[in-house]
Amino acid sequence: MKKALINVRIYDYDTYIENGFVVFGEAVEAVGPMAEFNHPVDECIDGNGLLVLPGFVLGHTHIYSTFARGLALPFNPHSFQDILDQLWWKIDRQLDNDTTYHSAVVYATDALKNGITTIIDHHASGQDIEGSLDALTRGVVDKVGLRGMFCFESSDRFDIDACIRENQSFIDQNHTGKTAAHFGLHASMSLSDDSLVRIAKARKGAPIHVHVAESELDQENALKRSNARVVKRLDAHGLLGEDALIVHGLHLDEDELDILKDRRVTVALNVGSNMNNAVGLPLYRELKARNIPVIVGNDGLSTSVTNEYLTLMHSMHLKDATPLAFGLDDMHTLIETTYAYASRRLGIKLGKICPGYAADLIALPYDPPTPMNETNALGHLVFGMFAAFKVKHAFVGGECVLRDYAVPWDEKRAYGDAREAADALWNRIRKEG
Ligand SMILES: [Zn+2]
Repeated sequence: MKKALINVRIYDYDTYIENGFVVFGEAVEAVGPMAEFNHPVDECIDGNGLLVLPGFVLGHTHIYSTFARGLALPFNPHSFQDILDQLWWKIDRQLDNDTTYHSAVVYATDALKNGITTIIDHHASGQDIEGSLDALTRGVVDKVGLRGMFCFESSDRFDIDACIRENQSFIDQNHTGKTAAHFGLHASMSLSDDSLVRIAKARKGAPIHVHVAESELDQENALKRSNARVVKRLDAHGLLGEDALIVHGLHLDEDELDILKDRRVTVALNVGSNMNNAVGLPLYRELKARNIPVIVGNDGLSTSVTNEYLTLMHSMHLKDATPLAFGLDDMHTLIETTYAYASRRLGIKLGKICPGYAADLIALPYDPPTPMNETNALGHLVFGMFAAFKVKHAFVGGECVLRDYAVPWDEKRAYGDAREAADALWNRIRKEG
């Protein structure tokens, strides 16, 4: 079915059209100014001045963290390990496939309303490992209609064989552009040398997705276990390769950064989470100096990514004591790098509104209070929109997944089901103590 969005502003980080149209099926077929619109379509949606952008890619999250919202547990952390022990590991070891599915539906719905159409997730669930990535797919992709990249956070906290099997079974699935697989590792600090050897043998060429040096503890642990720092330890096992997704990378030395560069990995920054956990700030300047590709995630701290872009910009200004530490050109590079990464992994073209690119489009109201054009449109996004994003219509591969701010299925019921699943989860956590 062919659709057209007409009378819209269009911006894709390259070109800006003040009053234009987009014609699309699964992919964009034509785009231009309204004066050139004469295309036969099955459905024509009058955007009446809405701004149309490519849907955003969320570079790293934990969908299961949805059910931490409002959960009150005794919390008195003195280290990053305490934060894991007192909160996150209490939650994830009680998750089963039912909780995973319901968290996926509500998380993806919230993310969609914030403009996200592709989610890169890092999943853990102690009660059900087998089938957990399918539960995520059913929620994010089948129900809400987004694209997703999934993996299971292998760690010695769980049955390592089951973790490996779950990653392998998802890697082996037939991925058709809606999904892609990483091989998931929680972090160096939760994996023995023996487990790393087994993962290296088992990963079937899939790039890994792993937390690296989120806190100094990861480095201390790696030095104790292997007499090597984290990046060298992972590299010694042959785990770093093109498109490996290295998350955080806050406490790395020059040698480790050089290895990341040589291995052509991508680094996902999540600065809001880093500040929330008080573990440090990203090495943005050092990564940029080496041209290491950087993308942005939220680590599950929210369901948005545009506010993470802002937080990264603000924090880098503060860290280096100059607004020159991160400018709009940096923002542009990060957004483009994220689309390029997701495009390679999914095997489709994302991030531009021009023929041949997937029709992953979001449309939202924005009446610019100052002149808007090709040279300053990104400034309008960053300073006028990113802090509060509210999408009216959204399409993924041309399918309408959000219309007039609403999903085309019973959202109220899904949120009710989620609250029930969360309540059951919280009871399991409290019972365990
Ligand atoms: Zn994370």
